[in-house]
This record gives sequence, C-alpha cells and structure tokens, in this order.
Amino acid sequence: MLLFISIITYRFYYEFMRILITGAAGFLGSHLCDRLISLGHEVVGMDNFVTGNIQNLAHLSGNPAFHFIRHDVANFIFVPGKLDAVLHFASPASPNPNSPFGFPNLPIQTMKAGALGTHNTLGVARVHKARYILASTSEIYGDPLEHPQSEEYWGHVNPIGERSVYDEAKRFAEALTMAYHRYHKINTGIVRIFNTYGPRMRLDDGRVIPNFIQQALEKSPLTIYGNGEQTRSFCFVDDLIDGIVKLIFSEEHFPINIGNPNEITISQLANEINTKLGNQGNIIYLEGRVAGVDPVRRKPDITRAVELLGWHASITLNDGLDRTIPYFRKK
Ligand code: NAD
Ligand code: UDP
Repeated sequence: MLLFISIITYRFYYEFMRILITGAAGFLGSHLCDRLISLGHEVVGMDNFVTGNIQNLAHLSGNPAFHFIRHDVANFIFVPGKLDAVLHFASPASPNPNSPFGFPNLPIQTMKAGALGTHNTLGVARVHKARYILASTSEIYGDPLEHPQSEEYWGHVNPIGERSVYDEAKRFAEALTMAYHRYHKINTGIVRIFNTYGPRMRLDDGRVIPNFIQQALEKSPLTIYGNGEQTRSFCFVDDLIDGIVKLIFSEEHFPINIGNPNEITISQLANEINTKLGNQGNIIYLEGRVAGVDPVRRKPDITRAVELLGWHASITLNDGLDRTIPYFRKK
C-alpha cells in the first residue's frame, strides 16, 4: 500500500507537474507551453502582451492542460492551485531601437520585468516550494572580452549604455535568483540563452533573422548594421527548448549557457538567406551602432550544458532556416 502511494506521489510530482510560464504568449514562452503540455504537464501561462501575441497560444484554447492569466509580472502575482515549477520568461528581448517592440523603446517595462518580475516570480516559487528557472541571456556578458563565452566569464557591460536596461535587469535577476537559492533554499536554475530563432518570432521586433527573411521575401536589400563582420551563433528553437526542459528536470543551480556554438558573421548570414530565397536584392550597409553597443563577437561555450545536461544543439542553421521560412512566408 505504502509502495502504491509512493508511486502515485512520484508520478504526480515528478512526472506530471503544474507549471507557471511567464511570457507565455511570446516566441520562446509559447514553444515551452507546447513542449511541456506534450510531455503531459499542466501549464498556467501568464503574459501582458507587451511584445507577445495571443495568436501564439490560439491553438491551446480549450485544452484542459492549459490555463491563461493576463497579468503584468511587475505586479504581485497570485496563481490559484498548486505549482511545481515557475519559469520566468517574461521580458522584451529585442535590442533593436528601430522597432517599437525593441527594449530601447520599452526601457522601464524591461527593467521592471527583469527586476520586479523576477522578485514576484521568485516569491511564487517560494510559496509553492517549486523549481524555478530564470530566462537569462548571453547579453549579461555584454560586449565580451573573452571568446567564446563560458559561464565563468563575468562580462563587460556598460551600466548606462543603450542595452543596459536589459543587460543590467538580467544581471540583477541572476543575482536575486542566487540570493533566493542561497538564503531561502529555493530550487533555482538559470539558463543563459544565446541568439535563438524560429517560427513565432515577431516579424517586426527588429531581430536579425526575421528582418532578413522578411526583406529577402520582399526582394528588398538586406540591412546590415555596421560592416557585417560582427558574429553571432544561432540556435534553432527546438534545440533550445530541449536544453531548457533538461535543465528544468535537473538539480543544477548555477547558470548554464544554452546555444548553438556555430559562429557566423552577419554578412555570411545575409548571404545565406539571400541565396536560399533567391533574392537578387543584395545588401545595404547602414550606420553601425555606437561602439560597445552591438557586441562584436558572440559564441557560447556549452561545455557545462554537455557535461551536466547531456545537451548540445543538433539542428544546423540551414535546416533551422528551412523550418522557419515557411512561417514568415505565411505571415
Ligand atoms: P518575446 O518578446 O517573444 O517574448 C516575451 C514575452 O514576455 C512576450 O509575450 C511579452 O508580452 C511578455 N512580457 C514582457 N513583459 C511582461 C510583463 N511585465 N508581464 C507579463 N508578460 C510580459 O521574446 P522571446 O525571444 O520569446 O524571449 C523570452 C525570454 O527569453 C526573455 O526573457 C528573453 O530575455 C529571453 N531570451 C531570449 C533570447 C532569444 O534569442 N529569443 C535570447 C536570450 C534571452
Ligand atoms: N542586425 C543587422 N541588421 C538587421 C538587424 C540586426 O545587421 O536588420 C545585426 C545587429 O546589429 C547585430 C546582429 O545583427 O549585430 C544580431 O542582432 P539581433 O537584433 O538579432 O540581436 P543581438 O544578438 O544583437 O542581441
């Protein structure tokens, strides 16, 4: 009998969890909702739609495993019922000042989502004794002086620069998460996400892959900021979600980089997208951002993810773009 009860309890708590996901209507949040529901969990999604889109969740409407609460995470959060995990993904995420959805144009909301939103969601995790995952970012390394970036690197961030509202909010969020872990013994984890792309990204938040695909589909020139020699390492969303799910079900508390280490220049990316979409529209080079604003090189060192989670990215940029382009074509 005792064994039977233990098995039921195990299944209830460790296999079928009830999970709060903030930023659920966004690109990554909506994919996380789908994945966790497909694994048998129940999800409570939360969003205020500042950069997200209800369409990203439309297919979950009526699904008994999904509930939605429209709420700004900067305000006190109450979720009825038990929670086994809290995933804090709510935050504007695009650095592009040319888009109304870029965080330079949402500076206070960005700082509040990273600071007050992290405080409130950690409070929820504490009340429920839940596993907590913070969506952090490669931006906490700033314009890095070490390459590739490992978790030991402390970063190179201008505290009052154009990206500081995002970078410093996320650095504060990491510090607060570790404080809750060390002081309140909350079971926290931190994922440092590197550039990720795929279906459900906003067409108009100014991030490079949606910008380039849209421009190439319209047969327009691709806009490169600066000389195009700056590098990024792009991870397809399904790979990233695999890594995050492994982190949720691990006991790891220290930050882990999740990203695809395949580093390319922005010029190479532009040429690849133009070739793929048969765009003769070419490329135009626009004035780059002020030095120190646009990181010059970015590539994750994923040794910790490989060793601790048994994770590495497996989808190539070529395959990931093939899975992404049809979404943007439809849009
Ligand atoms: P996104 O803009 O598509 O999603 C963010 C979601 O959070 C949106 O639905 C938005 O409406 C919601 N949100 C923002 N502020 C909120 C608030 N105060 N209350 C409630 N909801 C709020 O961006 P994304 O790319 O899906 O990013 C999700 C998370 O992952 C962010 O925390 C971001 O910092 C992090 N991240 C993403 C990337 C990436 O490449 N996509 C890289 C590094 C880190
Ligand atoms: N970029 C570009 N043209 C665009 C959009 C972005 O050249 O239309 C560049 C941008 O300056 C940066 C890189 O592409 O060097 C990645 O930009 P993104 O906004 O996607 O995110 P970041 O990695 O800078 O956070």
